[in-house]
Amino acid sequence: MNKGLAQLALAVIIGILIVPAPAFSAGAVDKKPNIKILATGGGIAGSLQGNSNTKFTAANLTIDALLDKIPELKKIANISGEQIVNIPSQAMTNEVWLRLAQRINKLLKSSNVDGIVITHGTDTIEETAYFLNLVIKSKKPVILTGATRPYNHLSPDGPSNLFDAVALASSPEAIAKGVMVVMNGKILGARGVTKVNTYGTDGLQARDTGLFGYLYGGKPYFFQASIRRHTYRSEFDTEKLNRIPRVDIIYGHADSTEDAVNAAVATGAKGIILAGVGNGNTHPRTLQALIRARKKGVQVVRSTRTGNGLVTRGAEVDDDKYQFIVADNLSPQKARILLLMAMTESDKTSRIQKIFQDY
Ligand code: GLU
Repeated sequence: MNKGLAQLALAVIIGILIVPAPAFSAGAVDKKPNIKILATGGGIAGSLQGNSNTKFTAANLTIDALLDKIPELKKIANISGEQIVNIPSQAMTNEVWLRLAQRINKLLKSSNVDGIVITHGTDTIEETAYFLNLVIKSKKPVILTGATRPYNHLSPDGPSNLFDAVALASSPEAIAKGVMVVMNGKILGARGVTKVNTYGTDGLQARDTGLFGYLYGGKPYFFQASIRRHTYRSEFDTEKLNRIPRVDIIYGHADSTEDAVNAAVATGAKGIILAGVGNGNTHPRTLQALIRARKKGVQVVRSTRTGNGLVTRGAEVDDDKYQFIVADNLSPQKARILLLMAMTESDKTSRIQKIFQDY
């Protein structure tokens, strides 16, 4: 090619590159995903009181007011908000969970919804995430997020967490990975995520099981996912369920008595989670109360207060003899949720134990 021709070709290529793309004409398709944001309250919808940088009220901003403060969200997705409740997450209940699950299952059946984001207080976000992980019947992304600093804090974490959650819910890589939580740039699976710090912005982690990945610049970087059953592979169904049985957690400690177990049974608990010392152990007095509770038909699950490790069957407690269940490596608060759902399926200890190995 001679020099003149080469210069002409170069000019044409540059011209193509710098000529602005034509605006989309009528009929062009909006490629942005449709993400529904379901709000439940929490610190992300809270505000500081007066001049204080410490005292705040959770859950006093509506989802529409919150979304108005983060216009960047509309650049990455077509978003719409819906207020489910507006509560601090320490006030979360089974009844709200059922409502949330039924609403999400309905929304995800629609081809107009590509993913769900749930705003939630961080105190119990891990519990709601795990509950939904067991009962959502879809491969579409369901992502929870929150904030430990309210929107009018000097350095709020809510806007970036919500942006990351919408980005993850919009991502094809998030499909079929189960319910996830996003906070401080980290992607955490519903089964492993737990709050490990009272108010720090990095307070959600996944001790034993580790991070699923990072979220950076609106893009997920995954290194792993859970192989346990969840969402579209779960047998649990909330469609016809309008009540969940009561399950209490009894915290283990030196010199514990039988009183807390007896009181739980007397006041109607159908299941008890022991947050035991070490490998799910407890004082012999408390153990005797648990044995009596089991004989009355109350399910007993041994878990641990340690935060890491498996509770192993039959190590120091004869689980087969007493018909107890062990919690695998689920935290007491996650074991409570799995037992709630397992009891809607079966009252057989062996069957419930299998569920604890699968989920
Ligand atoms: N305790 C409140 C809640 O969990 C606010 C704190 C927070 O969200 O981190 O909803």
